[in-house]
Amino acid sequence: MKKVPHFQLGFFPTPLHRLNNLSKEFPGINLFIKRDDQTGLAFGGNKTRKLEYLIGEALENDYDTVVTIGAAQSNHCRQTAAAAVVAGLDCHLLLRGSEPEICNGNYLLDKILGAHIHWFEAGKQKESENLLLETLKKEGKKPFLIPVGGSNETGTLGYVKAMEELKKQLETQKIDHIVFASCSGGTHAGMVLGKQIYNTEPEIIGISIEKDMTGEIPLKEHIVTVANGAAELLDVAQKITGQDVTLIDGYNEAGYGVVTSQEVNAISVLAKSEGIFLDPVYTGRAFAGMLDLLKKGYFQKGSKIMFWHTGGAPANFHYADQILE
Ligand SMILES: *Cc1c(COP(=O)(O)O)cnc(C)c1O
Repeated sequence: MKKVPHFQLGFFPTPLHRLNNLSKEFPGINLFIKRDDQTGLAFGGNKTRKLEYLIGEALENDYDTVVTIGAAQSNHCRQTAAAAVVAGLDCHLLLRGSEPEICNGNYLLDKILGAHIHWFEAGKQKESENLLLETLKKEGKKPFLIPVGGSNETGTLGYVKAMEELKKQLETQKIDHIVFASCSGGTHAGMVLGKQIYNTEPEIIGISIEKDMTGEIPLKEHIVTVANGAAELLDVAQKITGQDVTLIDGYNEAGYGVVTSQEVNAISVLAKSEGIFLDPVYTGRAFAGMLDLLKKGYFQKGSKIMFWHTGGAPANFHYADQILE
């Protein structure tokens, strides 16, 4: 396997533990959680792992500024702003929409971290990106563009490495199924490639968060492409096909960032049973999907199911009104 530039931002392995109270609600089922909400960088989350490779690439190639894109409450943007601070890089964030009246949640944290914020109109991402990159270059900067969610070949390497980490944890804790929130696809791509490289057993089940996330390209296809691109970067022989990607639709009907009773209920269930916070956009939706699959008998009796918590809790502060309704 080829060595790829890497810059440490988090503290690993993240804990894997049993959900003792919640498991009692599902006789014959054992529930576990892997705590990537505890990666140790600026309130944690799955983007820490991706950014270790993305920032590694930026530093290796002498970039001095990172630029990335997302929603106003993007966890990825918050983690990127923090990663830039750690690495000594400038950070410019392109946030979708217009400046909100109330500055809270991830947007507040972006500001505290000193990120330069720019707003763009939905549908004008490409132009806005190009314009900002040109402006920064004219100012004598060398900007490094990180795509939405950090989900390119390089970012995906973070979850390939995470599967190596999980493999060690599986020596003492058998798991049959992994359930998690899949949105821009990098996390999913890394898991399926890592599963093949490290020969891990658990079935990987992504709950789709946003319908038509990647525009013209279906998410599954995007995951396959990015996973194979990452395999190339690592110079490994594994090849991913659509059959390796399990993506469950049906929990994203409300649209991205729209909080419904399913997310509110999932947040409440895990908080009140285990004292753990989910988020209203990603993990709340994915956890709701898992609870629904459990109810429908999707998993065999005796199954050990691990929810891979990907972070996002700061968004709760932004969605307070909807969560408390
Ligand atoms: C970005 C994000 C995801 C989705 O990860 P992708 O790699 O974009 O599919 C899941 N959960 C949280 C909390 C996130 O911020």
